[in-house]
Amino acid sequence: MIKITLPDGSVKSFKKDITPMDVAESISEGLARNVISASFNDSTIETSTPLTIDGSLILYTWKNDEGKKAFWHSSAHVLAQALEELYPGVKLTIGPAIENGFYYDVDFGEQVVSEKDFKNIEDKMIEIARGKHEFKMRSVSKRDALSLYKDNEYKTELIENLEDGTITFCDHSTFTDLCLGGHIPNTGILKAFKVLSVAGAYWRGDEKNKQLTRVYGISFPKQKELTEYLQLLEEAKKRDHRKLGKELELFTFSHKVGQGLPLWLPKGAALRERLEDFLKKAQKKAGYEMVITPHIAQKELYVTSGHYEKYGKDSFQSIHTPKEDEEFFLKPMNCPHHCEIYKSKPFSYRDLPKRFAEFGTVYRYEQSGELHGLTRVRGFTQDDAHIFCTEDQLDSEFKNVIDLVLYVFGSLGFENFTTQVSIRDSKNPEKYMGDVKGWEKAEKAIINAVTDKGLNFVIEEDEAAFYGPKLDFMVKDAIGRQWQLGTIQVDYNLPERFDLTYKGSDNELHRPVMIHRAPFGSMERFIAILLEHTGGNLPLWLVPEQAIILSISEKFEIYAEKVLNLLENNEIRALVDNRNETVGKKIREAEMNKIPYMIVVGENEEKESVINVRRHGGEDLGIMSVDKFSGIVKTEINKILKQFK
Ligand SMILES: [Zn+2]
Ligand SMILES: [Zn+2]
Repeated sequence: MIKITLPDGSVKSFKKDITPMDVAESISEGLARNVISASFNDSTIETSTPLTIDGSLILYTWKNDEGKKAFWHSSAHVLAQALEELYPGVKLTIGPAIENGFYYDVDFGEQVVSEKDFKNIEDKMIEIARGKHEFKMRSVSKRDALSLYKDNEYKTELIENLEDGTITFCDHSTFTDLCLGGHIPNTGILKAFKVLSVAGAYWRGDEKNKQLTRVYGISFPKQKELTEYLQLLEEAKKRDHRKLGKELELFTFSHKVGQGLPLWLPKGAALRERLEDFLKKAQKKAGYEMVITPHIAQKELYVTSGHYEKYGKDSFQSIHTPKEDEEFFLKPMNCPHHCEIYKSKPFSYRDLPKRFAEFGTVYRYEQSGELHGLTRVRGFTQDDAHIFCTEDQLDSEFKNVIDLVLYVFGSLGFENFTTQVSIRDSKNPEKYMGDVKGWEKAEKAIINAVTDKGLNFVIEEDEAAFYGPKLDFMVKDAIGRQWQLGTIQVDYNLPERFDLTYKGSDNELHRPVMIHRAPFGSMERFIAILLEHTGGNLPLWLVPEQAIILSISEKFEIYAEKVLNLLENNEIRALVDNRNETVGKKIREAEMNKIPYMIVVGENEEKESVINVRRHGGEDLGIMSVDKFSGIVKTEINKILKQFK
């Protein structure tokens, strides 16, 4: 008999060689129906693998990430089989499961695969899946493995790097692949497939190697789930911030300037300025002081901070002065600069907390393949601040930062969010900087603060940075995607490295604790997420133009300008469309540009000194005075944009 421990802590005895599927059946028939993958003593195994020793067993269904991984990994095998059958002579390389679906990198030789072939491939996959073929693992000697793949230089290379005795193959139907395991029981569970795209990919990600074709796909246990997923993709495409940024003329990129370095256009710059002003105003009330630091610093600063050791080789390389041969680096973080600001004068406990804020632009090297619109860039501006406080102040400072973050989210219409508290791995205290008491205090302060604020949170052990625990905010956008936004981190490391001190009430020198925080994260990433969340229909207080005045014909140009003046006096951002075009066309364009209010002016409006107002999306608000309209705009803004505290 062997003893199997289940996730709820219960221990059950079973005959040796029992399989995870047998265990599931012994628990309930329903569970057995839904189990698609398992892990034993922290390694992924097949649901049919006989268990021979005592250990912990976890059973996974489609609802678990591990279950999805096995589902998509198995689907990649089916894709590979379909491609081999449809395109004889192709060479398979690798095909992993990814966050959403799976891919397979294939050398198609002279053959070409394009979108028009997708349906054919999907049909083949379905045909294979319906055979309900079991996935079966077997061990293979290195010699046999090499001989099976003698015509495939890619698999040969993979096998050459494996040790004899560790090589396994997976068989299903008539198909075999080199594989480490982790499958669903059989292909019959795969009910719906979609080939999503093809793209070029270099073998082993190295551009010196041959370019292969990466075939992306996704699969689901129900057709309905696939349909829903495809609808979500369609919606996401419409909301892609790169598309919206171009349409709304917010930002652009230039090859001459460099990849990953966004250029903000006038409307985008104005949008950023409004966001910055909004946060600056709230920060001022919360007791922050603005500072400004340069974009470069001497190597020595980053040696002291530890960033050089950590990122020096893998980041932008240094800049040298021609005569003095000084060595500078582009700023990857604002924190070291702020530590030096703290050091510029001595503080006593009565001066703390000190809260230094800066919209600081930083530069971090990202490989060109990793760059993506505004979410992965090489230069970006953090809404950064560092709070230097005593340990006793940590609790209240943390709560204050949470208030600020919640204020920011609320003012921008992010309502659906969760938080994650990342704490130490309690079993390995030596991994962390700073004394145990300090950590206990900081972790308690964070948990207290999130509990006190009634936030929905999870605690993740072993997720803290080596220098301190942290709190991350995750936001769900309008179509259910999760994004990580603001972060608050406690830091015991930098105060130590920079030898920061304050004089306590005991007249002795003490170390302050440092809090890093950025409610937006970065201006670039935040604006990207905001665009995708709102589909470009930004909150009224933030949008570049709140209203557009559309004259029915040239005859009403002067009245249109007069209305513009009145709106501007009421602090409404507006513009006039006096072009010699039909009102219908002007409305369509204003709709495209996502301008919240359209104001039509013609003969009647001029005669009565009124305006005709239409809401973006088509709602007709009718005839009204400019004052009444201004009131509507103010009310709408005040509904979401409140005063901080
Ligand atoms: Zn496999
Ligand atoms: Zn920092």
